[in-house]
Amino acid sequence: MDFWKRKKTPETQTETNTNAHERLEKVSGGKETRVSEPPQKRLKIPLNRTTNDVKFVRNSIVFPCPICSEWNSMELEDLDPITGGEMMCLHCQVVFHIPGGYRTRTELQKIKIYAGLPVAIRKFPIFYWNHPVVHELDEQGITQIIIQYGLWGFCQRCHHQFSPAVLMNLPQTRGEIVDYRSLSSEEMMEMKALRTGSCPYCSHRILLVIISDVPHYVISASENISHRWEEG
Ligand SMILES: [Zn+2]
Ligand SMILES: [Zn+2]
Repeated sequence: MDFWKRKKTPETQTETNTNAHERLEKVSGGKETRVSEPPQKRLKIPLNRTTNDVKFVRNSIVFPCPICSEWNSMELEDLDPITGGEMMCLHCQVVFHIPGGYRTRTELQKIKIYAGLPVAIRKFPIFYWNHPVVHELDEQGITQIIIQYGLWGFCQRCHHQFSPAVLMNLPQTRGEIVDYRSLSSEEMMEMKALRTGSCPYCSHRILLVIISDVPHYVISASENISHRWEEG
């Protein structure tokens, strides 16, 4: 299961934590100042198209693609109960994220299926740091959860999936120093290529990105794990 595989060790997680927090302060002026000052103007960014028109048929769900409206289906047993799953539209090749709540029938009123949004690699940091979900997670103090759930980025052409830890740490300016210490060697390679604005495998310059709401069952699953570590 990707969810657990992607989990970093507590040490590296603290590192990324600090990193993300510092970057957030740069962008938003930090939490303390936000209380007393009016919030900084956020750029209006396009959001992912979604559908909640999901029907249960035997052991699968069927739903219309939010982009091309053609019907797709997914076997429920292919969905992880927590992290859900990703698949491509059979008709227009956009990428979907399907929440695990469809398998467990949890939070069915709230969850929805997301379709990828094309974002130029160069513009990804602007997109990320102006995203309402990212701001909401920041306000709850749980930005790091996005490494496990809520951010999926694929090359639009070769569909390579990039590490969320790399995507969220992509610098906004050319001169900005990136802390590579918390990244694996594959992540370092991804980071270097993305900093030049292109996919390391096919040189394409556009990502298909999904940033989704994080369901409560994901947040509590993640809290349970960190709790186990503390006891460990
Ligand atoms: Zn489609
Ligand atoms: Zn590619």
